[in-house]
Amino acid sequence: MNEQKTLSVLGSTGSIGRQTLDIAERKNIKVEFLALGKDVKTAEEQIRKHSPLFCAVCNEYAAKSLAVSVADTNTKILFGKDGIEEGLGLTKTDICINGIGGFDGLFPTLDALKYCKRVGLANKESLVAAGEIVLRHAKQTGAELIPVDSEHSTIFRCLAGEKPESVKKLILTCSGGAFFGKTKDELKNVTAADATLHPNWKMGKVITVNCATLINKGLEVIEASRLFGLPGEKIDVVIHRESIIHSLVELNDGSMKALLSTPDMRIPIQYAIEYPECTKSPCDALDLVKIGNLSFAEPDCKTFPLLSLARKTLDMGGVIPCVMNAANEIAVDAFLCGKICFCDIEGIVKEVTLNFKNIQSPTLDDICRANDDARRKTLDIINIMA
Ligand code: MG
Repeated sequence: MNEQKTLSVLGSTGSIGRQTLDIAERKNIKVEFLALGKDVKTAEEQIRKHSPLFCAVCNEYAAKSLAVSVADTNTKILFGKDGIEEGLGLTKTDICINGIGGFDGLFPTLDALKYCKRVGLANKESLVAAGEIVLRHAKQTGAELIPVDSEHSTIFRCLAGEKPESVKKLILTCSGGAFFGKTKDELKNVTAADATLHPNWKMGKVITVNCATLINKGLEVIEASRLFGLPGEKIDVVIHRESIIHSLVELNDGSMKALLSTPDMRIPIQYAIEYPECTKSPCDALDLVKIGNLSFAEPDCKTFPLLSLARKTLDMGGVIPCVMNAANEIAVDAFLCGKICFCDIEGIVKEVTLNFKNIQSPTLDDICRANDDARRKTLDIINIMA
């Protein structure tokens, strides 16, 4: 790794952000810009450790408090949502890792593609909500887009050296989430605490609930379709409880390529930072004998219907994947706040998504309007239920 490379970390206090900074510290990479929502306690520690030139804080009150607590450092605090674009423009770092969760990560992805040579994308919602626009923008700016989502990082690596026409299909592996094997009846009384316990990966709360409903895998099918230019029917999902194989590529001759490792996001994060190099990471290689067996199963799309809904939105195209994501973000938030039950999520998301008037080949404005409308409609439904 060239030590002169510079790094921006968006969503620095979240799970991806913290793990990215861990890699930066181990690899002695210069961090020039951080962006975060409101966790100023973690942000202060990060600023003292990495001495970035700028740090953008979305929440204005939090920004003011952070500016006071790090007044003795050389880091300049930027305020509000425009702070991300401002910081990226001022630093123009070599690499930006976008670990912001949800639709909020879309504009930062576009800004990072504009100002940075490479964007490591952990924000799958950018590609779900506005895939064509993001890819077109990357082409125009010439920035490299490297997936950080573990499945997509794996596919990216497995596709190396293969001609596109040699690829028969992609197979995304899926842990099955916290409620694998449960019946609809058993899901009736599960709590937010139950849903946020992931069997293998350490992640944020929202994505862990998304794993439990399987919509996360649905979003990933859409993400893979955008990134690798394949239709939904060429992207399979298989349950693999151990999370050791992180996805596969099936080739025309019947062979399959896979990548196996400990489930640790620092591997795909480091890969996105140092590609095409591959140096030592904090993770040990697998002990295959100790693991012994790997298992595979069909996803239960009857009990967890949001995976099928996501596939349907991919076929519908236009603003509908964005609408489904928006409805899901609001519904999951309501579930985490105890306003609705786990089983309510699917019905609410389905109702908003399938009753929305689609717009094909949407502009960025169309997508933002659809996102806002879908959120409002979802909130209306939740308020009636409450
Ligand atoms: Mg993933």
